[in-house]
Amino acid sequence: MTNLTLLSFDNYTFTGDLAVIAICFVMVILLMTSFVSRTRSFSIFINIIVLLVASALANIIYHILLVNSSPGEYTGVYIMRIVYHALMFDTFFLYSLYVPVATGMDHAKARKIAIASSILFFILVGADIIETISGYGFRISQDGTVVNKSNLFMIGYCLYIAFLLIAMNQVKGLLYKQILTGFFATMAISVLIRFSQLIFNQSSLTTMTFVLPAIAMMYYMHSNPYNITLGSVDVRSMEDAIRDMYNHKSPFVFLSLFLPEYDEEGKDLPDEIKATIRDFSTKYFRKCVLFQIGNGHVILIAPKKHNPDYEQRISDILDGFNKEYKRFHVAYKIVIGEDIDEISQKNEYVSLIRSIHNSMLENTVHMVDDSDVLRFNKNEYILKELTDIYNKKDVNDPRVLVFCQPVFNIQSGQFDTAEALMRLKLEETGLVFPDQFIPLAENYGYIHVLTEIILHKSCQEISQLIKEGFNINRISVNVSVLELKDKGFCDDINQIISNNSISGEKIAIELTESRSEADFMIMKEKIEELRRQGVRFYLDDFGTGYSNMERIMELPFDIIKFDRSMVLASKTDQRSEKIVENLAHMFKDMEYSILYEGVEDDVDEKRCKEMSASYLQGFKYSRPVPIEQLREFLPKA
Ligand code: C2E
Ligand code: CA
Ligand code: CA
Repeated sequence: MTNLTLLSFDNYTFTGDLAVIAICFVMVILLMTSFVSRTRSFSIFINIIVLLVASALANIIYHILLVNSSPGEYTGVYIMRIVYHALMFDTFFLYSLYVPVATGMDHAKARKIAIASSILFFILVGADIIETISGYGFRISQDGTVVNKSNLFMIGYCLYIAFLLIAMNQVKGLLYKQILTGFFATMAISVLIRFSQLIFNQSSLTTMTFVLPAIAMMYYMHSNPYNITLGSVDVRSMEDAIRDMYNHKSPFVFLSLFLPEYDEEGKDLPDEIKATIRDFSTKYFRKCVLFQIGNGHVILIAPKKHNPDYEQRISDILDGFNKEYKRFHVAYKIVIGEDIDEISQKNEYVSLIRSIHNSMLENTVHMVDDSDVLRFNKNEYILKELTDIYNKKDVNDPRVLVFCQPVFNIQSGQFDTAEALMRLKLEETGLVFPDQFIPLAENYGYIHVLTEIILHKSCQEISQLIKEGFNINRISVNVSVLELKDKGFCDDINQIISNNSISGEKIAIELTESRSEADFMIMKEKIEELRRQGVRFYLDDFGTGYSNMERIMELPFDIIKFDRSMVLASKTDQRSEKIVENLAHMFKDMEYSILYEGVEDDVDEKRCKEMSASYLQGFKYSRPVPIEQLREFLPKA
């Protein structure tokens, strides 16, 4: 009998084990040509593949020896048989290690499973050795016939399957249900094959039954499929890659391309742009990976190790990009940088890049430097504090300060009103100005809580000032249009005013124009409701938006605040001067009062007075001061 047509006592042929080796190699090829997260569970997985190949080889060698050994010289056969079984049980052992690691089971439980599994492993391997040495279970007689009285391997197999089922039951809550079902189904097919072999007195597919769960593992746990038209992988993969590079201290460069036009849900990049990006993602750097962050946002990461001349490559890719830009003319923002320890550690490149986008013009390239990181960290810190302020909802929160800018009333010749302007006072940064936190607070939905604090503190101070005999007409508070959408808005405002026992007339709310029809309806409704309690309304920043006069007239505002840009415009040329003057005149005719913001000097003041001003506000009179200092401006009753 030749080796290749070998048929031993258990009807064994090489086919199954050769197929196992082939499948394992295919898996390795797939892993090498795709992006894989180098997690701990992945190391275990690789070890499983190595074990499977070794098992298949051991089984092949065992059967070759079995057929070819000279009578009486079966030591090699016995050893290979034990090795084969040990490798198979070892695969089971690794499977049982894999389950807790891949699912993030808590350490104590995972340890228990590992200990129990290794005890089982040693008992089974030990029993196999003893059984073979004693000749009780498996024996080859002098004439070469095999006597196999024991079912030790089968018993071990069943024990380990039961063990794995128990372990998987433990992680039920940690794993997505569909995935668990997938694993159970693959195991069921493996067991089915294993037992059907018994019926046909076969053993060629035994190793194969161990491969099937590995295929499921690779598919569910270690595949990060490419977007095949873009050649990219997803954000999660980027986080894994960064973690891995940080742990291995391997430096890299990143290039982020953002196309704002396409960065909306449901929008997709045109095929031509995709093809260009796909091309770019492999042409300029070696061993780089492209990550897709959003519909219009991709980040290319290239290890410096494989691209020592990365500076040259960056300049090449930018040249290439400029050529393509001439073709597509799509607005872009490009951010380029090198790995930053602190950002890698916190895995925050996407947030960093997004924060840079905010302060970046379109069609520009930005090279990340230390100041970006400082600004980003400051932003993150402010956000953390804002979140805390929001969560505590304490109207007396000492971090939120009310500054006030006194407003000059031309008719009375006194400073009898003021605008409340918010500041934050934070431990690490000191005073923070609105441009650094209002947009954040609006984005995260924290703004209303801040307004409530400002309003409460303003009301408290008004009540105190009145007690002290000061003549204060009112304080105006800035409110974001976003807040009006909240059902409880009017109740919240009324509640705070009445809690402080002052009249609604002492408070005004400043709103800016909004373009949307829906906002307009809501604004109208809320203004009307609060006006019934005496609260006044100012239209803020008139002249900076798109100023739909018809709309403005429909809203019952008391005061129109002309933005500083209008004051400036009125000084530039005669035409602009006429426009501002006529606008102001028209509003005055319609019984609105006019307030000019940003009056900085005597020239401004004179101009504004000539242009129907009722109120003046600006640095000429005072910068915003802490609310207690209003006493220096207010008249006594
Ligand atoms: P705003 O409502 O238009 O406030 C006027 C801004 O102009 C204030 O800046 C003020 O300091 C500044 N200003 C006053 N007089 C002059 C001047 O003569 N010349 C120049 N160049 N500027 C002057 P601030 O305090 O930094 O506030 C900026 C913006 O932040 C405010 O613009 C407002 O939109 C927002 N903001 C401030 N406090 C709050 C608040 O409590 N809630 C909300 N939602 N927004 C607020
Ligand atoms: Ca304002
Ligand atoms: Ca304003």
